[in-house]
Formats: sequence, structure tokens, C-alpha cells
Amino acid sequence: MAKLTFAGGIHPYDGKELSKDKPITDYLPKGDLVYPLSQHIGAPAAPIVKPGDHVKTGQKIAEAGGFVSAPVYATVSGTVKSIEPRRVVVGDKVMCIVLENDHQYEEVTYEPGDPEEMSREEILSRIKEAGIVGMGGAGFPTHVKLSPKEPDKIDYVIANCAECEPYLTSDYRRILEEPEKVVGGLKTILELFPNATGILGVEDNKPDCIKILKDLTRDESRILVKELATKYPQGAERQLIYATTKRKLNSSMLPADVGCVVNNVDTVVAIYNAVVLGRPLMHRIVTVTGDAVADPRNFRVCVGTSYKELMDAAGGLKAEPEKIICGGPMMGFSLFELDVPTTKSASALLCLTKDEVSRMEPSACINCGRCVEACPSTLVPSRLADIAERHNKEEFVRLDGMECCECGCCSFICPAKRHLTQSIKSMRKIILADRKK
Ligand code: SF4
Ligand code: SF4
Repeated sequence: MAKLTFAGGIHPYDGKELSKDKPITDYLPKGDLVYPLSQHIGAPAAPIVKPGDHVKTGQKIAEAGGFVSAPVYATVSGTVKSIEPRRVVVGDKVMCIVLENDHQYEEVTYEPGDPEEMSREEILSRIKEAGIVGMGGAGFPTHVKLSPKEPDKIDYVIANCAECEPYLTSDYRRILEEPEKVVGGLKTILELFPNATGILGVEDNKPDCIKILKDLTRDESRILVKELATKYPQGAERQLIYATTKRKLNSSMLPADVGCVVNNVDTVVAIYNAVVLGRPLMHRIVTVTGDAVADPRNFRVCVGTSYKELMDAAGGLKAEPEKIICGGPMMGFSLFELDVPTTKSASALLCLTKDEVSRMEPSACINCGRCVEACPSTLVPSRLADIAERHNKEEFVRLDGMECCECGCCSFICPAKRHLTQSIKSMRKIILADRKK
């Protein structure tokens, strides 16, 4: 049977063998914890502690700054050292709460609950209070995403278990080691959408995950496990929705406009932890990997831990890296400094001995059409990049440049090594900024 998928896409080397068989290990931070007040889309959180305050693990230290915002919690016990600007992954300095770890792990008590006994408002309030944001990278507050205008019109709640980015194995290990939480989290979300079917969408390069999830959901009449073709960017929201439901949306639509709600698998587990166990979002599973890393691993990390500590915990570097990336190689950010904090959206630290991109000089387009074939948004990347380089905003919009999901497939496939994604991405940013004004 043909596997569920979308048009376009690419098959890059996936590098997952480096860390896929390494079970999740808990990493206890050694140094200070740094909590950016902006680690989500929306208003920054507002501190509710001051320097000198003692806090416990699981204690709220910053309140949501509005409806589209999320609170922040201490992930260890200790003393608030300062509230000051610190460098974060994207290179900017943002206001952060710095906590000195007392290594006592004194913890608040949590209040477990049963989602079947809760009202819709109670479930949403627990998710909001727990500070959950989209953990697939976007960082959009989850309670907002789960509050569409017409919940009765949601037909599908999709758990994104694709993990299509090369090298990343944090979701894979999560599904293998905590499948009950994945299913429990999806069932919790389904309580919010009475007419919806739950879908666990998994790429077929994870047959063990597919089996475990199918076994666990055999008697769940509202949950389907769907096998997806292994192809990048299978886990991108629009591609995942199309592959699992055949519904299409464009950049000006929300998944709810086509009756869907999509959450990354780690977000689904965070929802389980919040609603069923009463625990706020405090941890991430982070893959530390790449051919420059001595001992690639998957760690359960306290949010706020420095990436430098994680690198040391994975045995440090065995070779000089040319490229260090926070996240996957296709959509991650280049890191120029390792001593920056992990956030709620952290998924990987990738250290590669070769920077394939920077060593290739772009040359003239040979009109081979490969970028067009690879584009999952059915665009003509070669043309859009030309237009972007000429700063022709009107033409860029007319040719649907705003539909680009910045997946990087065109740059990856281009034999002339043109910086297609980079040009298109910059133009999109300028147009989005203009629209905001
Ligand atoms: S144009 Fe955008 S959506 Fe299409 S392949 Fe390039 S980066 Fe991906
Ligand atoms: S893949 Fe590269 S060389 Fe081929 S048409 Fe696209 S831009 Fe031109």
C-alpha cells in the first residue's frame, strides 16, 4: 500500500543511527540555570521573583504576560541570583532570570487530575498554567492553539510523531520509552474536541514506534496510528495535515480552518504531565549528536541548562566542529557560543565536522528544475530567489513566495548550490515586517 505523504520533499542522510539506540538519561545541571522570559511567541513573561528569593523545583518564577504568552517555572531549587539580559540561542540578548542551583531538588507538590472528570475550561487552564508552548520549534502557547472558535468543528487532532529532521532522535526515544504518556496526552486533548479523531502520525523509519503505538491504541476507538513515508519535511504542519487527512491549507490559514489541530509529540506528553500529573513544563528531551560529538546521547534536560553542560555530558568533542547547530540541520540555528540556555523549544545540539553549506560556492542556475520538484509548497524557488534578490516585493507575493515554509529542500537539492532558501526567507521576513507596521 502506498505510504501517506505529500508532493515534493527530499531524502537527506538522516544520521539518526548515532543516537537512536541511546536511552534517555536524566541530566542534572551543575551550573546556574538561565530562564529567558521570552521563550515563546507572544508577550514576554513577567518575573514574580527577585534576586535573593529562594525557590523550589516546580515553582512559578514568571507569570504569563498576556493571553498569548506562557509562565516560566524553576526547574531546580535554589536562589535567584539576578534578572538581567543574557545571550540566547538566536544570538540576541533577552531578559532572563538566573537561578543558582542548590542541588537539593526541593520540590513543590503537584495536584494530579483526571481529564475525564474535568471541564474544557479546567483542562485548558491546566495547560495554560503549566506554561506549555509548541515544542516542535515554534513555541506558540498551546492553550491558544487548543482554543479554536468552534471546537465542535475540529475533526482531527494530530500528534506529530514524524521527527523528519535528520539526526534528531528525542521524539523517537520519547515514543519508545513513554508511549503511555503519548497516548494519554492525545486522549486528554481529545476531551477538548468531542467530534475529533486522534491521529498519531509516524514515519515508517520507526517501525518499533508504530508497533508500540498500535498495540497501545488497539481498543481506542477514537485514535488511529498512521504510517507516513519517510521524507523531509514530513513533520511540517501543512505537509503532515495533507499526508494524514488530504486537507490543504495555505499560509494565511490556521489548521483549525481545515478542522485540524496539530501538536508535536513532546507537547502532547507535556499536556499529559500538566493535566494528569499536575506538573508544569520543566524538562525537554535533547539529542546531543553529530560526527564531532564523542558520545552522542539523548538527555532529559531541565529547561535553563546551558548547552555547554550538555556537550560536556556527551563526552565533549572528539573532532573540531565546523558547524554547531541548535536543532536539526535543515531548520535549526547556527550557534556561535555554547554557553546559552536550553529553552522549552530545545530539541538538539548538533556538531558537524564539515559545514557542507559554507564550503560550496554558489554558481549560476542551470535550469534543471530540481528545486521545483523538491518544493513541498509547489513553488518555483529558482524564480522566487531571483525576485527576492531584486527586492521585487509585489512580484514575490504574486508568485506565492509567502507560501514558502522555509524547509530548505530547494537549497539542499540545488546542484548550483544557490542560496535559495536564504534569499526567499529574507524576503518573507521583510514582507512580514512591512505587514506588521
Ligand atoms: S521555496 Fe520554501 S517551501 Fe519551497 S523548497 Fe524552498 S524553502 Fe522549502
Ligand atoms: S535546482 Fe538550482 S540549478 Fe536547478 S533550477 Fe533550481 S536553482 Fe536552478
